[in-house]
Amino acid sequence: MAILARRRRSPAFLLGAALVVAAAATVTGSPMPLRHTDADVVKPGSVSSLLAPATALSLTATPSHAGTVALLCKGDCGEIRVGGKPHAIKNMHWHTPSEHTIDGRRTAAELHIVSFAADGKIAVMSALFDQGTVNPLVENTLDAMEDMADLSTTAEDIKAHFFSGADVGCGVYKGSLTTPPCTEGLSWVVTTKIGSMSRRQLRHLQALNGGHENARPLQEPFGRAVEWLEVSL
Ligand SMILES: [Zn+2]
Repeated sequence: MAILARRRRSPAFLLGAALVVAAAATVTGSPMPLRHTDADVVKPGSVSSLLAPATALSLTATPSHAGTVALLCKGDCGEIRVGGKPHAIKNMHWHTPSEHTIDGRRTAAELHIVSFAADGKIAVMSALFDQGTVNPLVENTLDAMEDMADLSTTAEDIKAHFFSGADVGCGVYKGSLTTPPCTEGLSWVVTTKIGSMSRRQLRHLQALNGGHENARPLQEPFGRAVEWLEVSL
């Protein structure tokens, strides 16, 4: 697991952190620590057809909150189905280090794919990354973020390079956005197969996200259950 160097925090960042803390007094906040325990509920089949039916995805890099860069979908980027309900994928963005932990383990980076249902409900699919080998799709993504340019990719490449293959385990739970306004009522799908990117890519990603760590602190689970599932992307 990569340990990223701590950097001096700017007053603006500290103000942002204070706002996050102020918004944290909720009962379904995210990220929450995920644990494989006997108390967890398993409901096979409640998540399906991830990333279908789009085969080609076109996104464009754009400045986002707190100096970060997000990738916004241009047109159809596919969908995430949770409980049978389709959620259209709208944007992707990164956090360093990871926001979620699994059995107490935090990884070097986390990708969030944010999607919306027709009724406005949000589902976020998350992929975790450790420091390791160079990730070719991360490289393309960094190029787009660096230049505020477009990223063209395929669902197959996303499955292969962001989710480490077609079949993954995932933890599903009810939570919130992890940046203000920290909206609650979200469905989180956190995949458990850990991807990799190089040390250089991690540093570049952090630099493009404002040069500081941008992971919200863990939130109290308050007894929330996690469904542990095996799904085909
Ligand atoms: Zn996020």
